[in-house]
Amino acid sequence: MILDTHAHYDDEAFDADREELLESLQPNGIEKVVNVCASIDGLQNTVALMEKYPFVYGAVGVHPDDADKMTQETLDEIRRLSHLDKMVAIGEIGLDYYWHKEKEEHEIQQKMFRAQLDIAREEKMPFMIHSRDAAEDTLNIIREYMNGGMYGGIIHCFSYSKEIAAEYLKMGLYLGIGGVVTFENAKKLKEVVKYAPLSQIVLETDSPYLAPKPNRGKRNSSLNLPYVVRMIAELKEVTEEEVISVTRENARTLLGI
Ligand SMILES: [Zn+2]
Repeated sequence: MILDTHAHYDDEAFDADREELLESLQPNGIEKVVNVCASIDGLQNTVALMEKYPFVYGAVGVHPDDADKMTQETLDEIRRLSHLDKMVAIGEIGLDYYWHKEKEEHEIQQKMFRAQLDIAREEKMPFMIHSRDAAEDTLNIIREYMNGGMYGGIIHCFSYSKEIAAEYLKMGLYLGIGGVVTFENAKKLKEVVKYAPLSQIVLETDSPYLAPKPNRGKRNSSLNLPYVVRMIAELKEVTEEEVISVTRENARTLLGI
């Protein structure tokens, strides 16, 4: 049974058939899913999904896209929701300089990133990181926090070089690998997956985004994870069963599910 550590089933892309799709996951070999909050509105939606479906867990946090909309009240809400039984991580949090190029935006993102890492530390929870075009700042902030003591975490949708992967792996963090690894032009990521020990990789989809080949460009769901498993098995020259069982154990160790 496969575990999806990162999906957004509260996204409007699932409005038409959310229930039917979620009900179909376990019969098709997807054991558990972590629904990850992204926007401020997403906080309550994730809670609702967790409450409705026994196999859905949650991560609570606000994506850097929404950093400028966050207030102390938002941070208090994240902390409060982090106490729920099935809330297993703080995420997705981080830095996105691809969509936000202004220096002031970077400063706000860093402030909110740090505030949410503080919550992860104080509530003794792992974190899930979103980082795009912000390799150096993300690495510096995470290193600083890890040196001060944290409960581990996942670099979601890892998109940087092998050298940067090495830094995160040294800190004992996990790399979240999803559909992108199946893309023909994903040379750099394929190298990272060959290099990283399977014991530090977790499976994810980022549904509804980033569907793997042969469904690239379509709406993604956890049902596509077998394509990701197949590619990782090929790159690491191990069986698909081994990819599934080791990544599942990794998720269990880190997230307690
Ligand atoms: Zn995501």
